[in-house]
Amino acid sequence: MLNRQSNHWLNFVGGEWVDGKTAIEVRDPSTDQVFATIASADVDDVENAVSAARQCVREGRLTRQRPAERAELMYRIGAEIRELAEEGALLASRENGKSINDARDEFIESARYFEYYGGMADKIEGKSIPLGEDYIDFTYYEPQGISVQIVPWNFPVSICARSLAPALAAGNAVIVKSPELSPLAITLLATACERAGLPKGALSILAGPGRATGAALVAHKETNQIVFTGSVPTGQAIMRSAAENSVPCVMELGGKSAAVAFADADMDQLVCSVKGGIFFNAGQVCSAMSRLLVQREIYDEVVGRVAELAQGLSIGGGKDNPDLTPVVSMQQRDGILDMCRQAEEDGARLVTGGHAVEGLPGAFVQPTVFADVTPQMRLFREEVFGPVIAITPFDTEEEAYELANGTDYGLVAGVFTQDISRAMRASQALDAGQVFVNEWFAGGIETPFGGNRLSGYGREKGQEALYSYVRTKNVAIRVSR
Ligand code: NAD
Repeated sequence: MLNRQSNHWLNFVGGEWVDGKTAIEVRDPSTDQVFATIASADVDDVENAVSAARQCVREGRLTRQRPAERAELMYRIGAEIRELAEEGALLASRENGKSINDARDEFIESARYFEYYGGMADKIEGKSIPLGEDYIDFTYYEPQGISVQIVPWNFPVSICARSLAPALAAGNAVIVKSPELSPLAITLLATACERAGLPKGALSILAGPGRATGAALVAHKETNQIVFTGSVPTGQAIMRSAAENSVPCVMELGGKSAAVAFADADMDQLVCSVKGGIFFNAGQVCSAMSRLLVQREIYDEVVGRVAELAQGLSIGGGKDNPDLTPVVSMQQRDGILDMCRQAEEDGARLVTGGHAVEGLPGAFVQPTVFADVTPQMRLFREEVFGPVIAITPFDTEEEAYELANGTDYGLVAGVFTQDISRAMRASQALDAGQVFVNEWFAGGIETPFGGNRLSGYGREKGQEALYSYVRTKNVAIRVSR
């Protein structure tokens, strides 16, 4: 079936593409012009999605398949996503502002999630527990049931696939709430699932306002699991709602992650990491290198090199694949610029950037470098979610770790040094779910990812993530004699 009528997109509810009573306008951030609409799901759509998911779970449409068959299904979904990557890249770039190359990568990464977790579908093995010869005891894993997944706008396709693939591989039915600002490209995951033969009810993807559609889904009594990626306040509201029904959550929240550059760091390696770390996806990455802590001996040189890097970046709309693309909306741009103004008022040194890009009509923010940022400043502690890096000097190793750990977040951290012992000490001292050594964003879909403290709990990616989507059942058998 068609997933849209001309430029109006539909929701995927229990295996059918359905329209809504109202619609959401979707804008191109590089021009701020509306170019499409999508049906907005209401409470009736939520009920229909839940009832379709419940039916799928009750009838065991996924769990009755042999796991090896489910693995085949996952591989087929991966292949269909690869087929849709070009079409999807254009759409994702247009609705989100990101470059077409990065948007295509999102689709390829999404296909990889299905292939990776497809490979695990028939390896979710339980244990046998020795209780002496009068008992046989074993555990096995069963799916949680209905998994509700709430997705943010920065990587809507790959973040969706990151949770959807392990959930389906483990036999769950999934209801996804797509983000208001980028709700289109994510629907192609439903198209891929439909083409690959995913049973009806195993997936619904609903667009709609977080506070209505999202809130109705997470408060629904038949939900068995909530996976949320997004901001801290929304995550906290969802955790409160989940507590009412005692529903387990995976929470992937924000970050204010620091790279620690010691005096012996390889300067080119560091600068290259800064480029990807804070300017990739216009800095709208939860695990962005939003802070850079630099040992005093190389401080001036690093500030100079990072400023030179920022000034040399090409800026433009996603279709031209520049180094720096617009942020997702004019509202997001204005929030970032407000934070830059406040950082200056607080006494941070604006080295370059800090303003909108003149001559470009959309949501463009100049690549921005602040130096001499101190822990008292808001810029040191709060997520900007834009192309803005805060640089702070340090003298000793202890001071570096104290500064790095000096926010309420703990998502990722990085260390740049040639000294392997210091790198190991850093990995122990840095309070974060993942520590990068000498390359920001080292790792991949195979490496567990998630935060400590306000950055959330639970892990996505890697083999470990699969176990969030199952629950353990123990069977204890008395042997009669
Ligand atoms: P957001 O919290 O505003 O929205 C995220 C999603 O939650 C959207 O789909 C929204 O509609 C929905 N939502 C809003 N209110 C809701 C409610 N009451 N109940 C249910 N759903 C609701 O976040 P955002 O602005 O879309 O994304 C940016 C944030 O996401 C940043 O803080 C970023 O750090 C974080 N993020 C984290 C990760 C990670 O893996 N740790 C990845 C990407 C983004």
